[in-house]
Amino acid sequence: MEAGEFYDKLVTGDRFVYIAGPCAVESADQILKTARFLSRKGIPVLRGGAFKPRTDPGSFQGLGTKALEYLAEAKEETGMLVATELLDYDTLPSFMDSVDLLQIGSRNCQNFPLLRKVGRMDKPVILKRGFGNTIDEFIKAAKYITNEGNKRVIMVERGIRTFEPATRFTLDVSTIPVIKERTGFPIVVDPSHPAGLARYVEPLALAGIAAGANGIMVEVHPDPAAALSDPLQQLNFDSFTSLLEKSDAILKALGRVPIRLEEYEGSQFDIYK
Ligand code: PEP
Ligand code: MN
Repeated sequence: MEAGEFYDKLVTGDRFVYIAGPCAVESADQILKTARFLSRKGIPVLRGGAFKPRTDPGSFQGLGTKALEYLAEAKEETGMLVATELLDYDTLPSFMDSVDLLQIGSRNCQNFPLLRKVGRMDKPVILKRGFGNTIDEFIKAAKYITNEGNKRVIMVERGIRTFEPATRFTLDVSTIPVIKERTGFPIVVDPSHPAGLARYVEPLALAGIAAGANGIMVEVHPDPAAALSDPLQQLNFDSFTSLLEKSDAILKALGRVPIRLEEYEGSQFDIYK
């Protein structure tokens, strides 16, 4: 399936999407292992940062274009769609072949020139809420994209900064009904960045699904303790599997149908059967 078709399926059928993968692409082995695991579970979209926005300039900044090559390999082998963050417009040419969905990170949610530029692209945009932005500002950010012609925006609630230090950010579940009421965009919950700790990821994800989210975007790593970024919050394969069982049960109760990789035309899913 091509990304535009995938987006339209998500919106018109009011479907649900699982987006998963590591915080950052760290090696060919790491991303391929993760993509193989996720594709066997039928997960349609692989996430993985190539260019990382890090608070500390001394910490791992991502593998850059090398990571995009590894993502392309993972896409080729599994048939998954690939989502990665566009941190800087100058790197866009290297995204064209390997990236299906352009992610705009929380820190760039109000980078208006960047929003305008992705608004001229023919790829769906995953727009993450600025952690200091109101819902109204978040919606207006999306309008910067759609005003340029690209109507395919996926909104992501990833937590906001509040006075509460027990979690990394505070997941604002109320974004879900408000975005649904005020826009026609799908709203996806990222439980990983607000949780900050792997053991809080599942309850936040399930809360988002129960509140009517159109998807979840979860950080999954083959060996979280060894991760080069966000090691504390990434789920290992076993924890992700257990989350998937519970979230599928809630979706079933709600009568919502997750998009599975098997549905893709040309999917290589059957190589695992
Ligand atoms: C990410 O999802 O890779 C990320 C950096 O998250 P955020 O932009 O929400 O901080
Ligand atoms: Mn991360």
